[in-house]
Amino acid sequence: MLEIKNLMVFYENAIAINNINIKCEGGKVTGIFGANSAGKSTLMYTISGIILDVKKKEEMKGGERITVLGNIAFEGTDITHMKPSDRAKKGIILCPERRRIFAESSTLENLKIGGYLATKAQAKKTLEYVYTIFPPLKNLKRREGGFLSGGEQQMLAIGRALMAQPKLLLLDEPLLGLSPMMEAMLARSVHDINLQTGITILISEQYARPILPIIHHGYVLENGGAVLEGSSQELMENPDVKSAYFGL
Ligand code: ATP
Repeated sequence: MLEIKNLMVFYENAIAINNINIKCEGGKVTGIFGANSAGKSTLMYTISGIILDVKKKEEMKGGERITVLGNIAFEGTDITHMKPSDRAKKGIILCPERRRIFAESSTLENLKIGGYLATKAQAKKTLEYVYTIFPPLKNLKRREGGFLSGGEQQMLAIGRALMAQPKLLLLDEPLLGLSPMMEAMLARSVHDINLQTGITILISEQYARPILPIIHHGYVLENGGAVLEGSSQELMENPDVKSAYFGL
C-alpha cells in the first residue's frame, strides 16, 4: 500500500531523515517509535506531502532550504512530488501531532470540516461511526474544541481525520500528554478502527508500551535512521526496545 525507499530529508544541511526504507502493508497497523527529534513528524509530513508546502513557504521567505530525496509510492503510484491536497484525495490523511483542532469551532463543526472531501452520504455514515467509536463526542457536539479535555480533543482529531475518508491514516503521536487510562482507551480505539474499517494505519509514538500490542509491524527511528524493525512480538522481546522504550 505504501512503500518508502531511500528517503532522506534535510533541513538546510541538517539531516532529519537518513535513508529510510519503510513499508505499510494494506489493512495493517504499522508503528514508528523514536525519542524526541528522532524524525517522526518529519516522516509524517513527508508522507502527507505537507513538507512540500513548508518547503515552498520557507523558499518564499528566503529561509532554510528543505531537501527531500528518495521515493514514496502509494498503491503503486509515485507520490514523492505530489501536492498534499492530491494525496488527501487519494486517501492519505494526516492527524497531526498536538491535535490541531479548531479551538473556536464546535465538536460537530470540526468533524464536518474534516468531511469536506466526502459525499453527503459518506459524511453521514462516518459521523455515526465516529460517535460509535468515540461515544463521548456525541454529548459534546456543541462544545467548542478549545473547551474539550486533552483526551476528548484527541478523539476529535482522529474523528475529524476519519471524516476525510482515509485509506491510509497517519497518526502522529496521538497519545502525547494523555493519562495512562486515556492512552489505553485510545490505543484500543485505534485497534478497533483498523479491525472494523480495514483502514491502513501508520502511528508514531515516543513510548512504545501502549502501542506495541496493537501494531502488526514496527520500526524504531534514531537520529533519522531506522535502526530496528520487526513484528509486534519481535519488538516486544527485543532487549534494546525493552530498555529504551519500555523503561524496563
Ligand atoms: P518530536 O517527538 O519532538 O515531535 P520527532 O521525532 O517528530 O520529534 P522531528 O520533529 O521530525 O522529530 O525532528 C527531526 C529533526 O529535524 C530534529 O533534529 C529537529 O530539530 C529537526 N527539525 C524539525 N523541523 C525542523 C524545521 N522546520 N527546521 C529545521 N529543523 C527541523
